[in-house]
Amino acid sequence: MSGYTPMIQQYFEIKEEAKDAFLFFRLGDFYEMFFDDAILASRELEITLTGRGGGGTEKIPMCGVPYHSAENYINRLVEKGYKVAICEQVEDPASAKGIVKREIVRVVTPGTVMETKALPSNENNFIVAVVQAEESLALAACDLSTGELYVTHMSQQWNVLIDEVQLYEPAEIIGDAGILDTLKERLNITVPMTPYEVLEQSVAMQLVQKQLKEDEITLLSAPRLSVIQLMITYLEETQKRSLAHVQNIREYETDQYMVLDHYTRRNLELIETVRDRSKKGSLLWLLDATQTAMGARMLRRFIDKPLIDQANIETRLDVVEGLYKNLILREDLRSELAPIYDLERLVGRVAYGSANGRDLNALRLSLRKIPILQQLCQSSQIPALIKIVDGMDTCQDIADHIEQVLVEDAPISIREGGLINAGWDDYLDQLREASVNGKKWLAELEAREREATGIKSLKIGFNRIFGYYLEISKSNLAVLPEGRYERKQTLANAERFVTPELKEKEKLILEAEDKMVDIEYEQFVQLRNNIAGHLKRLQQAATIIAELDVYQSLATVSAARRYVRPQISDHYDLTIGDGRHPVVEAMLEQTSFITNDTNLEEASSSILLITGPNMAGKSTYMRQVALICIMAQIGCFVPAQHATVPLIDRIFTRIGAADDLIGGQSTFMVEMKDIQLMTEKATKKSLVIIDELGRGTSTDEGMAIAQAVIEYIHHHVGCKALVSTHFHELSHLEQTLPTLVNSRMAVEERDGQITFLRKLVEGAADSSYGIYCAELAGLPRSIIGRAYELLTVVEQELPRAVQAKQVKLEQLDLFFDEQVAVTAERVEIIPSKVAAIADNKTEQKLVTELKKIDLMNMTPMQAMQWIHDMKNKL
Ligand code: ADP
Repeated sequence: MSGYTPMIQQYFEIKEEAKDAFLFFRLGDFYEMFFDDAILASRELEITLTGRGGGGTEKIPMCGVPYHSAENYINRLVEKGYKVAICEQVEDPASAKGIVKREIVRVVTPGTVMETKALPSNENNFIVAVVQAEESLALAACDLSTGELYVTHMSQQWNVLIDEVQLYEPAEIIGDAGILDTLKERLNITVPMTPYEVLEQSVAMQLVQKQLKEDEITLLSAPRLSVIQLMITYLEETQKRSLAHVQNIREYETDQYMVLDHYTRRNLELIETVRDRSKKGSLLWLLDATQTAMGARMLRRFIDKPLIDQANIETRLDVVEGLYKNLILREDLRSELAPIYDLERLVGRVAYGSANGRDLNALRLSLRKIPILQQLCQSSQIPALIKIVDGMDTCQDIADHIEQVLVEDAPISIREGGLINAGWDDYLDQLREASVNGKKWLAELEAREREATGIKSLKIGFNRIFGYYLEISKSNLAVLPEGRYERKQTLANAERFVTPELKEKEKLILEAEDKMVDIEYEQFVQLRNNIAGHLKRLQQAATIIAELDVYQSLATVSAARRYVRPQISDHYDLTIGDGRHPVVEAMLEQTSFITNDTNLEEASSSILLITGPNMAGKSTYMRQVALICIMAQIGCFVPAQHATVPLIDRIFTRIGAADDLIGGQSTFMVEMKDIQLMTEKATKKSLVIIDELGRGTSTDEGMAIAQAVIEYIHHHVGCKALVSTHFHELSHLEQTLPTLVNSRMAVEERDGQITFLRKLVEGAADSSYGIYCAELAGLPRSIIGRAYELLTVVEQELPRAVQAKQVKLEQLDLFFDEQVAVTAERVEIIPSKVAAIADNKTEQKLVTELKKIDLMNMTPMQAMQWIHDMKNKL
């Protein structure tokens, strides 16, 4: 180490503070990276790796990026999940004694990006912190670009925590190493994670007190305070500057909204599609007619967290209805909202000290729209809408102030002048006058000298090195009287000269300009700081604008797509007349969507068992019901003729075996875990949707489990459920389960051709048309022919499933293994296996154990586990 030059030693010292980040070490006009950082960065950024002597025996690997284009490189690294520590020269190199002092001024991490360019405007960029404290799990989520800070906690329920973490789609997660390990294991997404702990409670508390309001802190419960401390210390440590815009803590409980676990969100394609993860084709895409970035982000939060409070839902619906019915108002609002910039992020930049002149003008223009919006709403005669803008702070004093100080077309740079209005600062005006006079004098000089020398092309020019000069082309030099000017610079076809008088004026002009730039910068910063004193007011205004935007968006889409206002009820029954799947309908441009009714009633039809061939429209129908409930509870109109939607506390979906095998778990195991969670969490107020239950395992086992699960829902949960199955044999359940109703997707069969009618009708289907589907999919004729052949053979041999159906069933039956049917009270053994079982002691033991178990008190998962264990013993 001692062999290195003082600068490299300084580098090592600073690098110690940022071991897990790329250290961008400022050297003149470049940020340089050294050693391993340089090797990795040159690869990641595709920039040339060079070397430099640094006192050691070998050259030090080095690469660098120009400081003026550094933002781009930093963003690229951060997008890849890296961190970048920015180390600046913190003293003027000219006055430094020895090596220039350098410090890390900020660490950019994926969760703390502030640069607008790096962030998609319609999406939040959350950093999530998680702690385990006082027997609880607590979570905080902060978007540094907008200043939002959410916090919640729960008992030791990892499932709930995992769902909540995924909801934020965090760009970065912080927490202690143990927690991060668990998250890594259980999350379905890869997120950059930073191990981070609060080391000194008292220091953390001081930071929190500096950042947040006393009364907000005292209200926090211990686990929440602890996670807020973690978040704030991390932000402070990485950002090293004021985060005044992160002030309000938004506390919430996870069960204060409709609970939608991660799978359900994905399955219902609320935010993105399952197939290609694109926004197009999702519910968010469909409902997004917002005009502002803030509105778009808020709409996402509406969809993330549907309400469960009837009064709040009705209030939202009232506003949407008012706007739905008033096209002119809606159009006016839309056109006034459209030019509004991203106020939340602008305010963030003001607080952060990174807003430039253009940002402040954008802020001013946006604020000017507020009184117009307020006026439009106030005269709307929609009480719920008037209430939103009533007493709203329109922040016009702030817009006035900007208008007074800042020129209208301010440049991006705040260090080159041209920012401040004439008349705002006397001294600045005087300097400007001096500069203008100076320039006038130059023009006069030029004219005078042209006259005196007779050289028409004589001109006065300026460059940074030589300052002002008189330029005469080579061809005219001969006419110039010797000694008239002092020679300064020779070019290929011209000579440049100065005079003592010119130099004197130049000094005055340049001094004035320097001072002007300084004063303008000071005045600008002063203006920015003044605005920063009103952050809370601005944030509140931004929230109201976002809200108006979301409402107009919901109303616009509802009107365009002929949706109706749902009746929200606190009873059990769910009734939908002529319902449509909102997204499928929107995607089917030409062909019209076939509507279907839904009646899920406590007394007679809480469970709908839907059979029908593949492609008949079963999943579309089931998702349509779930989406209508979600739309209703976020306060949107719904795609139907009429709908009565009860308050649903949780939607649980388990859809198909198509799910990917994340984390190496088999589809079947994933399915069973989901079902287990459902049995644990679903209440009578929930809606359960199960598509193709039991598909992931052998036919008989699958059917057994499907039946057991359905029975469990019927007997123990009592919630509304839509279950689709290709086991048409399950339709017999209608006889034993009083509130289960069979239905099927109608198909028309004529001359061996099948037409899907997409209509839900009563009664069960009797064939699943699987081979027909294979034919549709274009499988070779030979395969199709052979399949039909085999099917005939199997049907003649009385397939297992049908045998099973013949076994008399009692409640909670379970089909087990290939040929044994089991009920709680007795075991019936299918003849072909009798001999084998009699010979086998293990199996006899098994029968004894089977008799012992109390099926009525087992969850389907426990039953499944039991079967699994037993099967292993065989
Ligand atoms: P299943 O779940 O029975 O296999 P899907 O619900 O996936 O069938 O439907 C298959 C396709 O049929 C969908 O992609 C959709 O395009 C179309 N479809 C489904 N329901 C309807 C409907 N009600 N009206 C028009 N087209 C529909």
